[in-house]
Amino acid sequence: MRPVDKGSSPCASFSEYGDAKPYLLERLGNYCSYCEIHIALNANIAVEHMEAKAYKPNLKREWSNFLISCTMCNSMKSAKDGRPLGHEKGPRDFDKNLYLWPDEHDTWNAFRYLKDGRVIVNPNLAWQDRVSARRTRCLFKLNRTENEDSDNRFQLREQVNRTARHYLAKYEAALKIGYPVSELFELIYDIAKRDGFWSVWMTVFADHEDMCRKLINGFKGTNKAYFAQKLGGTKGADS
Ligand SMILES: [Zn+2]
Repeated sequence: MRPVDKGSSPCASFSEYGDAKPYLLERLGNYCSYCEIHIALNANIAVEHMEAKAYKPNLKREWSNFLISCTMCNSMKSAKDGRPLGHEKGPRDFDKNLYLWPDEHDTWNAFRYLKDGRVIVNPNLAWQDRVSARRTRCLFKLNRTENEDSDNRFQLREQVNRTARHYLAKYEAALKIGYPVSELFELIYDIAKRDGFWSVWMTVFADHEDMCRKLINGFKGTNKAYFAQKLGGTKGADS
């Protein structure tokens, strides 16, 4: 899950929360903040309220409560209203602090992306963070493999993983024989932008710092503070 920095509110207040949409897209790109799927510009992109507007009307037009979500992640989240597993029928007790949020936490370090498309929790996290990461994955059902409700997030992630590995092999083969790779490098980056799933590309190209740097700097709104090392010392953290 790509950690993002959406910056301060672009205006003092929004008269309608929908007015925030162009600013969110401009600052974060058209990717789901949770599953990282590329959302087509002509799709019905909605402003995502981390705290549901029905329950927290005071946060309905608050920039701090906004992200971008695909319809599937949005419906997974609202289907449960954030109730913990096993308590779906109980009173709503959504506590935002129980979860990880890409604009507040290092959600990149929280998860690992496997070749088979699964998202697992980073086993090296402290226990409490592991619990929060597991809850977050569960809230959005990121590992849902059954093709229910036309949910193809898992399949697309797996497909993008295969694409990324295919290009990694090409890239490494070219490097090995000393073939110029600048065009291939740009092509791979363009495919990553088109296909989304930033974390998959970061994972597959983990050994290639120049590509990671491009992905961190090129995808709008990536929170660079978590990648100071990859970006070269503390300079990257400050930019
Ligand atoms: Zn999504």
